[in-house]
Amino acid sequence: MKYQKPKGTNDILPGESEKWQFVESTARDVLKKYDFHEVRTPMFEHIEVITRGVGESTDIVTKEMYDFKDKGDRHITLRPEGTAPLVRSYVEHKLFGPEHQNPFKAFYIGPMFRYERPQAGRLRQFNQMGIEVLGSSNPATDVEGILVALDFFKRLGVTHTQLVINSLGTRENRMVYRQALIDYLEPLSDQLSDDSKRRLHTNPLRVLDSKDKKDKEIVENAPSILDYLDEESNAFFTEVKSLLDAMGVEYVVDHRMVRGLDYYNHTVFEIMSNAPGFNGAITTICAGGRYDGLVSEFNGPDSHDSGFGFGMGIERVLITMDAEGVEIPAANNVDVYVVGLGEETNCESLKLAQAVRQAGFVCERDFLNRKAKAQFKSADKLNAKLVLIIGESELAEKVVRVKNMVTGEETTVSLDDVYTSFSNVYNNIIGE
Ligand code: ATP
Ligand code: MG
Repeated sequence: MKYQKPKGTNDILPGESEKWQFVESTARDVLKKYDFHEVRTPMFEHIEVITRGVGESTDIVTKEMYDFKDKGDRHITLRPEGTAPLVRSYVEHKLFGPEHQNPFKAFYIGPMFRYERPQAGRLRQFNQMGIEVLGSSNPATDVEGILVALDFFKRLGVTHTQLVINSLGTRENRMVYRQALIDYLEPLSDQLSDDSKRRLHTNPLRVLDSKDKKDKEIVENAPSILDYLDEESNAFFTEVKSLLDAMGVEYVVDHRMVRGLDYYNHTVFEIMSNAPGFNGAITTICAGGRYDGLVSEFNGPDSHDSGFGFGMGIERVLITMDAEGVEIPAANNVDVYVVGLGEETNCESLKLAQAVRQAGFVCERDFLNRKAKAQFKSADKLNAKLVLIIGESELAEKVVRVKNMVTGEETTVSLDDVYTSFSNVYNNIIGE
């Protein structure tokens, strides 16, 4: 039997994992500046958390769940997204209490699971980085959330981005709009794609989001949600736009942009990439919005019922970085390589490498008892700045030869000096 990873999953291997670490550490750096704190929820949840949080009629719940009964007959699902679990946790641990940050500003980074048809940038296990702000109905929270995402992309060197925003108003506004949309679409329903026909009565807003060409033509003349906002929703959206303007953030308003998850209201946004490498195709790399009311759905207090957040697919961020030709700092370099010649140097090589690491440098050695030439080739490949050479005679004299790989110069240093003050040795040769 040939063993293979499950369909729609990835092994992230050396060479690639360094990129992940770079993206994740950049995210952590940026989030820290905004006073966001990490929450790590379980990888699986009781299924009700997701059906309640995400909504019964969404693709996630109807088609994409990795759910199962566990040995105790509990109905469990692998988490398909981060918001519902986080809100569950917020309410469960009463994080709205006076001793907690208010608004509560959380982020998560980790795998999500959706049973989808795998394609480029669409996996069954994928990774999201996301934020959630709970307990603020201030439109500045929406704008700060958007700024976090934009700041993150800037720090990664991703510049071909476009911010698209819209407002879905309140639930009441959306119910009225929903009916208007059904009234518009119904007479045209036989021209809609099968997916959209099905969604027409379960989740009609999602038809606006269809990628089908004919569907797109049909929704071209659909009524606009923006005409259905009440005064308060309008004022909120106007404030969000003027705060974005005040921050000098460019955006476009697309009244057909809705989100696939039921919980959104008021502000929704997406950040799209039109990186040159995508050849004109546009990809959503980050999506989110406001979800006032979700905390109440989980029986949390009405006083802390406001929420805003986004999620971004890390795989798509990495694809975008590739498409933009962003270079990630090489991560497999070492400072020092130990060349050991002859089996009898095995133990001393181990000690040398360890001393170098204890002094704070990155070090690798040979383990295969190879010839000098092959070991130097490895040192070159790893961009070692310094090579320590130990052979039979050096061992006998308790010294090591030290080669500056930049100038090619060689000196001899006592083992003692390496063991007591390697940083001096290094700095004398390479400079600080
Ligand atoms: P789509 O319309 O592409 O299916 P979605 O509306 O299901 O997206 P969200 O649930 O809002 O997406 O998730 C936020 C982000 O997570 C997406 O913008 C995308 O970057 C990423 N994402 C979602 N599903 C997947 C997946 N199956 N594989 C990889 N990334 C994903
Ligand atoms: Mg989806």
